Amino acid sequence: MYRAIKIYFLLVLIFSACKVKEKADLIVYNANIYTADTINQGIEAFAIKNGYFIATGTLDQISSLKGDSTQMLDMEGRFVMPGLIEGHGHFLGLGESLINLNLLDTKSWDEIVHLVEEQVQTASPGQWIEGRGWHQDKWKGNSELTFNGYPYHDALSQISPLNPVVLYHASGHALIANNKAMELAGISAESQSPAGGRIVKDKNNKTLGVFEENAMDLLTKALEEDHNKLPLSTQQANIISKAIKASDHALKFGITSFQDAGTNLADMRILQKLCIDDILKIRLYVMLGGSTKHVLNEMDSIQELNSNKEKFSTIAVKAYMDGALGSYGAMLLKEYADNPGALGQQITSTDELTQIAQKAASKNLQMCVHAIGDKGNREVLNLYQNVLGTSAKNEDRRWRIEHAQHIDPSDAPRFHELGVIASMQAVHCTSDAPFVAKRLGDERAKNTSYIWRSLLDLNTHLANGTDTPVEKVNPFECIYAAVTRKNSSTGLEFYPEQKMTRDEALKSYTIWNAYAAKEEKIKGSISVNKLADFIVLDRDLLNCKSEDILNTKVLQVYIGGKKIEVKK
Ligand SMILES: [Zn+2]
Repeated sequence: MYRAIKIYFLLVLIFSACKVKEKADLIVYNANIYTADTINQGIEAFAIKNGYFIATGTLDQISSLKGDSTQMLDMEGRFVMPGLIEGHGHFLGLGESLINLNLLDTKSWDEIVHLVEEQVQTASPGQWIEGRGWHQDKWKGNSELTFNGYPYHDALSQISPLNPVVLYHASGHALIANNKAMELAGISAESQSPAGGRIVKDKNNKTLGVFEENAMDLLTKALEEDHNKLPLSTQQANIISKAIKASDHALKFGITSFQDAGTNLADMRILQKLCIDDILKIRLYVMLGGSTKHVLNEMDSIQELNSNKEKFSTIAVKAYMDGALGSYGAMLLKEYADNPGALGQQITSTDELTQIAQKAASKNLQMCVHAIGDKGNREVLNLYQNVLGTSAKNEDRRWRIEHAQHIDPSDAPRFHELGVIASMQAVHCTSDAPFVAKRLGDERAKNTSYIWRSLLDLNTHLANGTDTPVEKVNPFECIYAAVTRKNSSTGLEFYPEQKMTRDEALKSYTIWNAYAAKEEKIKGSISVNKLADFIVLDRDLLNCKSEDILNTKVLQVYIGGKKIEVKK
């Protein structure tokens, strides 16, 4: 017996000695390294083996891991940080936006009509023309905004009489359609608005062509029916091409992991396979999204897609409480300052949300509910509190509120108290700033809007992202917004007292986002035993001038210790 124990310890000793002597595949040295790891800072080198960081420190400390086949990478002092994690985006939506008309930079309705006109000339008869990104509050002249701040469809219908046109609002919470599209969708002057949505009509009962929230389904259904006529193989090929476009585009910006805010099970299966087969290099975390009925059904099947969670993980469900502020959909405690009587729209009934939340809780899935307005946020906090009770704060819950944009000061401490993650998008603050005060009035804008500093001071877990394709996926614009609260093109500053520090902004795009996806043990920092995802930048994001953050160039991207060829 004693002998057996002795042999056992001898074997353990030999095994650990071998382990220590294990040589690295890659040693990165002479780098200016931001680790995002509070207890492991000031390193200048790290070693990687089999896709993981195995040692960090000075070159002296880790040079013992250099073997005959170890690749040595001299960074010549360049800035190296963990791979960026997009905390809330729409992966296939991003891919689609790279294929369809992108209206994010348009400055007037005329310009949009002109862009559509160009597409009409090359489109085949009857082909749908899709676009996304218009925002009436970002247009220069207001002459076109004839009713409720919206344009009429007439110009669009004139230049495209035979091709149906659907153009989504930047927020994704409204769309404008031309006559042909409305005809295919069976919309007439008599059509009534559905629950949780609005077919916008003027005082003479004329349809503008604008559809808000749930009313958009009337049009998207017609569009989907057309898409569904395509052979299944073509539909799948379209998804794959969107996924590859999205991945290539995100990698250019140093995004090595992407958190998708809502995809149905069928598309999720395609994405999972692309990740497992290594066709997509980017790592995905995907929330299950869709109608209440689908989410409740499909929730049973997502766990089986978690065979390799490092590449693809799905442990969360997405639902909507309200709409967006720009389209008057955000649920407010008090009426809109520029639309008296309007209080926003509840998109999913409390009953349905409770059903989803209860089922998610029983399966230990994360619940991620979109809430923008102060009322919307309060309702979601109440929902989480009611469904989870005292278990809300358990470390394995980590339920999230997506956007958490306008929060009544009395609700702010509840995020920490309930262990709820505020999944915010810093760049929304600076791009929406021009209309936030109009919608809310100065006082409410100041006290409730994008209150990152207040939430952080209350020990809230934050996540950060762009909500792409609502915004560009560029993380540097988002980091710039987080630390300056200034719009990058107009310079307009929005209540700078709520700024984040540089360190906080970088953590919000790395380790905090990893935490929000229950992945902080394998991702989010340059630390031993984590996946070796890191990027090399042309400037020091901690110390450069804040304006210089915007022009950051990603020089190299590594995922699992392997250099990724980034398409320019
Ligand atoms: Zn979103």
